[in-house]
Amino acid sequence: MIPFLDLTRQHHELRAELLSAVARVLDSSRFVLGAEGQALEAELARLAGVRHGVGVGSGTDALRLALAALGVGPGDEVVTPAFSFVASASTIMMAGARPVFVDVEPATLALDPEALERALTPRTRAIVAVHLYGHPAPIDRIVALARAHGVAVIEDAAQAIGAAWDGHPVGGWGDVACLSFYPTKNLGACGDAGMLLTDRDDLADAVRRLRHHGDAGRYHHVELGYCSRLDEVQAAMLRVKLRRLEEWTEARRGLAARYHKALAGLPLGLPVENPRARHIYHLFTVRHPRRDALAARLAELGVGTMVHYPRAVPEQPLFGENAERGWPQAWRAAREVLSLPCFPELTDAEAEGVVAAVRAALERLTP
Ligand SMILES: *Cc1c(COP(=O)(O)O)cnc(C)c1O
Repeated sequence: MIPFLDLTRQHHELRAELLSAVARVLDSSRFVLGAEGQALEAELARLAGVRHGVGVGSGTDALRLALAALGVGPGDEVVTPAFSFVASASTIMMAGARPVFVDVEPATLALDPEALERALTPRTRAIVAVHLYGHPAPIDRIVALARAHGVAVIEDAAQAIGAAWDGHPVGGWGDVACLSFYPTKNLGACGDAGMLLTDRDDLADAVRRLRHHGDAGRYHHVELGYCSRLDEVQAAMLRVKLRRLEEWTEARRGLAARYHKALAGLPLGLPVENPRARHIYHLFTVRHPRRDALAARLAELGVGTMVHYPRAVPEQPLFGENAERGWPQAWRAAREVLSLPCFPELTDAEAEGVVAAVRAALERLTP
């Protein structure tokens, strides 16, 4: 059996270092808003080339607090892609604003800049640009459009830590970027955690207040805030893993190159890597019109796969829209995408096994 993802391998290798990081926090007994969190904030801000990192409880909370810090609320519209993880849109509703779904480019499943331009109205306050699967959205065009219309850009970089566009890291393009350290992400905590990155002092100050009950210092609560901090145990463990991130990213890219080479020419849609992009392959996601049959065949052959995601966001029951009519590219992607095993600890033999199984499965499926 070749697993879709096996986190125990990473944790087995790093066990001693992770446990000593936990012990360091236990010995300090400072668990919330301490030195580890501050150090991690500085390290990740530096990686994205911005001045501020602000640790919060999850990637979802990072999006919520970004919207709150930008002053988004009832009566506002926020543009978001019709194909993503649900939080790229549900957080807009949590803020009391209206998500305006825009269709995606078929090649990279990123926001289509032309559809984006048509969706902007005088009520648009912000755009959520998602770097899906680890491939950057065309962020230069999105930021230029946003600037021209006076709206803010939130980069949802939950899947894209370490990715770059035109050589500049994602997370450093928009007004604010959101990271997730959900355990299965490329930099995963041992629990929930997230972070905002920004160059804007006003947004960093606002989020530092908002994550801690709207506290401007010493129990002085100046606005309605939340309770969402990245705790010291998670921060200390994340700092251990951050030292491996670049090496892990290279391993993912090497594996992706191997898949690209071995699967080229087959009747299978392969991920596209724009020449301006550094794709960090959070997911290696292929496309096939008979996706469910392909997944079932691979399961029989002992290869784990996952579907990211089985519905376009607007057709989730939460929103209940007809995606086929409104967002045809997103609708089609939801029926064709299939993610193959792609993680740094996958062995050479396992990668060979995945390739052989995909070839065998396709032979059976092709009419
Ligand atoms: C994981 C993810 C989130 C949410 O992050 P959590 O830490 O799980 O709350 C938001 N957007 C995208 C694109 C994600 O992949």
